[in-house]
Amino acid sequence: MIAVIPVRDGVAPAGADEAICEASGDALFIGSGTSQALENLPKVASNVWLAEAEVNASQIIAAITLIGRLNETVILPATPDGRDIAPHLAHALGRSLYAGAISITDHKVSVARHGGLSIADFQPTKTFIATLQIGIRGVDTVSATPTISHVEIVPTTNAAQASVISVAVMPPDASTMDLSEAPRIIGGGAGLESGERFVQLQNVASALDASMGVTRVITDRGWADHERQIGTTGVVVDPDLYIAFGVSGAVQHTSGLGQPEHIISVNTDAHCPMMQMADLAIVADANAVLEELAQLMNVNSEVGAA
Ligand SMILES: Cc1cc2nc3c(=O)[nH]c(=O)nc-3n(C[C@H](O)[C@H](O)[C@H](O)COP(=O)(O)OP(=O)(O)OC[C@H]3O[C@@H](n4cnc5c(N)ncnc54)[C@H](O)[C@@H]3O)c2cc1C
Repeated sequence: MIAVIPVRDGVAPAGADEAICEASGDALFIGSGTSQALENLPKVASNVWLAEAEVNASQIIAAITLIGRLNETVILPATPDGRDIAPHLAHALGRSLYAGAISITDHKVSVARHGGLSIADFQPTKTFIATLQIGIRGVDTVSATPTISHVEIVPTTNAAQASVISVAVMPPDASTMDLSEAPRIIGGGAGLESGERFVQLQNVASALDASMGVTRVITDRGWADHERQIGTTGVVVDPDLYIAFGVSGAVQHTSGLGQPEHIISVNTDAHCPMMQMADLAIVADANAVLEELAQLMNVNSEVGAA
């Protein structure tokens, strides 16, 4: 089994470390700046192949053929690149695809269904392609330095691909990027008093180059889309920074939160779980703090209570 890690400008995607662990430490890094991406990951890999090449299915197949791993199961992190490439790989290799798996071995794949409410187990009889959900497995670090090999692939020359020229890879817009990949998230819960507060929260988040996340209470009220809901029945995230406004920290929410390096919580209840998890716990009215922040940052500060 091998993990394939698509790399853009020296940055490995979220969940790369987990995919490598699931593949027992064997990984192909393919894209631009693969060495840098490897350096910036925690020590999880044992055998690494680096290929400076276009990130597409045919280049990946060329690389895994060269390193003699073509006949093995391939795991990709379930990021936008991983989700895009996996079906192409499965089609090109004539293999089954297990999308959004939470656990993968050669003989058993578990896939979460119905927003995480049920788990379907499969017993593949042949090698396959799978994407691994981010933030569920966790990582096991290793002490040894990985063995690193460089793979030289001949660039694809087929007409369709030759006509596509990558001019630049733009950084993602934090307000619309996949929440599971967001490095900074500002979350809002029922302590925020109205739907308008979530427009303000979104604006403050954008000004801070952060993404907005919410609790299920908020999506149930229709104040934010389901794709913004963090938790067991929403999106599993793993940001470096999480700032929670009026979020109690119920287990269904925090179990989808990953392990943020820094948590700031604003809540009137000093003893709720979110405040207990926080590095900085601010006992205050979340609406007033958000209002002040919006004014300081000069963004949409005109909000009336519901
Ligand atoms: C099967 C199932 C699945 C679920 N899945 C999810 C999920 O995926 N994601 C999810 O988030 N939830 C999920 N839930 C719901 C979850 O159990 C909680 O109900 C929810 O997370 C609570 O959201 P909340 O913190 O916004 O609201 P509450 O629990 O009502 O907390 C509001 C918080 O705001 C504080 N507060 C009140 N007023 C103020 C103020 N003026 N200023 C500052 N703080 C204030 C309160 O002290 C409290 O801590 C699920 C529940 C079930 C049963």
